[in-house]
Amino acid sequence: MAKEQKKKRARKTNADAEKYVISLENVNKSYEDGVPALTDINLKITPGEFVFIAGDSGSGKSTLIKLLLREVRVNSGNVNVSGYDLVHMKRKEVPMFRRNLGIVFQDFRLLKDRNVYENVAFAQRIVQKSEREIRKNVPSILSTVGLAGKYKAKPKQLSGGEQQRVALARALVNKPSILLADEPTGNLDPRNSNEIMHLLEKINENGTTVVVVTHNREIVNEMQKRVITLKKGVIVSDEEKGGYIDED
Ligand code: ADP
Ligand code: MG
Repeated sequence: MAKEQKKKRARKTNADAEKYVISLENVNKSYEDGVPALTDINLKITPGEFVFIAGDSGSGKSTLIKLLLREVRVNSGNVNVSGYDLVHMKRKEVPMFRRNLGIVFQDFRLLKDRNVYENVAFAQRIVQKSEREIRKNVPSILSTVGLAGKYKAKPKQLSGGEQQRVALARALVNKPSILLADEPTGNLDPRNSNEIMHLLEKINENGTTVVVVTHNREIVNEMQKRVITLKKGVIVSDEEKGGYIDED
């Protein structure tokens, strides 16, 4: 453990890594076919911020999230997340780095043959929590997301909104410093979308940095958070307490 901490300190190479929980400098990413997905992205996010990423389909939002997860790698530029230099990170360091992140997707990605409790406990087992801790932590996070009474249900017995709450509980149970959500309300009706977004706000108020990709104009306008808008792989606006910008 001490060794791991020492290694992590060694990776904190510059002042930015201390000040910003997420920092991208002059980042360019194009896929194998040569299509540029992100061009000269500069973006800094401080610990505890709530940030929306908006923009048309194909504007590079998911690519940005995947860069932060180190699921895809940059062609050039620097990416720092939670004190880790993702450009120079070795493959074997990726799992330890990802323990700092909670991740939620549009399509929930639950284990269909396991119940709610087991879906959330699974995340704790990966990080080798004891059964005793799991029995304490899983009910606690399920009650945070409003699912205390549903722990035995299988995903198909739940509504979309409930399934996304399970995914959220699973993302949060290991207490990540950053929550990344790629269109978390994309499959939900307006009422459930609202509830999920306000849950994300509550999680943020408890100290977690939250980055949410969304198309949900009403919610973006209502919540008055920082809004970064991408267009064709370029940041075209970055506003505190912003609104949803029309692309056309
Ligand atoms: P968004 O999430 O905003 O819809 P994406 O980041 O998914 O945008 O895509 C940005 C651009 O990169 C698009 O032109 C898309 O077609 C392209 N792209 C995304 N993923 C891949 C991939 N795996 N291979 C090739 N091109 C991709
Ligand atoms: Mg996308």
